[in-house]
Amino acid sequence: MSDEQYAGVDLGGTTITAGIATADGRLVASRTIPTDASGGPDVVLGRITLLIESLAAETGAKTRALGVGLPGLVDVVNGEARFLPNLTTQWRGVPVAATLSAQLRCPVWCINDARAAALGELTYGHGRDARTMAFYTLGTGIGGGVAIEGKLLLGKLGAAGELGHMTILPDGPRCGCGNRGCLETLASGPAIAGEGMRLLRSGLAPELHRLTDGNADRITPRTMADAAAAGDVLVREVMVRAAGFLGIGVANIVTALHPDLIVLGGGVAGIGPLLFDEVRRVVADRVRMFPTDGVRIEPSALGEAAGLLGAVALAARSLRGDFSRV
Ligand SMILES: [Zn+2]
Repeated sequence: MSDEQYAGVDLGGTTITAGIATADGRLVASRTIPTDASGGPDVVLGRITLLIESLAAETGAKTRALGVGLPGLVDVVNGEARFLPNLTTQWRGVPVAATLSAQLRCPVWCINDARAAALGELTYGHGRDARTMAFYTLGTGIGGGVAIEGKLLLGKLGAAGELGHMTILPDGPRCGCGNRGCLETLASGPAIAGEGMRLLRSGLAPELHRLTDGNADRITPRTMADAAAAGDVLVREVMVRAAGFLGIGVANIVTALHPDLIVLGGGVAGIGPLLFDEVRRVVADRVRMFPTDGVRIEPSALGEAAGLLGAVALAARSLRGDFSRV
């Protein structure tokens, strides 16, 4: 048993995933439980403490530090949640790091969950051999993170890298953030599935109807990709359109940063080649100021574990003083 073990938590609106890992990002224990967000911050933080204690007991080693990814605006310096819109009471000014640190008796650091996923990819995934990287989490919402010369870009409020809220369509749909036409309104899981439901109900997606037994609630970007592969031309058109919007967002980031690497993570990235081929095509088409053949556009090497491993990376790197951010 190594005593070099670190804990990570990926807190979501409906589930908490926690894990214990070695400093090189090998998970030795992990578990997912319901958040029970309605109980408020004290209940949720208590559940996190019990979960970490039980996982640590299973591994038999002491947890040296904990990193926590939170779904919203996070004060990274003071370890406080500033605004978590998807959790009951919205957690304004909740001292997450201080509370968990007192309960678990180890140092605790907090970061936004999408930035955590980017840090995970940077530390343990494709980012290991990249200097400048942008990471997209494509799921219920679209989050992101940017690393410049190996350092995570956080900005004053830890909010730099909100790649899902760049305007892509000036008069597009209203976004949860208040703006119109954000990438999130056009290429998130619900945005894509919503178009699928519309086609299904209009009788324009026979393969999607077959794959879901006509149940619109069972439509996901993944089932839509399967329907497109099976011959649903209009479903394919919807997916390519969403991928094209994502491609515009990625092309703008490539033009601004000339990164070595773009990583597309989250459930929507599971669409696969249909998505990646179109994003690569749009980037090659729209970035005209320099050659883009050196810009890799890849699925996450860590998959669903990126956020959890990013929280572990935050703990391990912060403790040894090499978490450098800009
Ligand atoms: Zn937005």
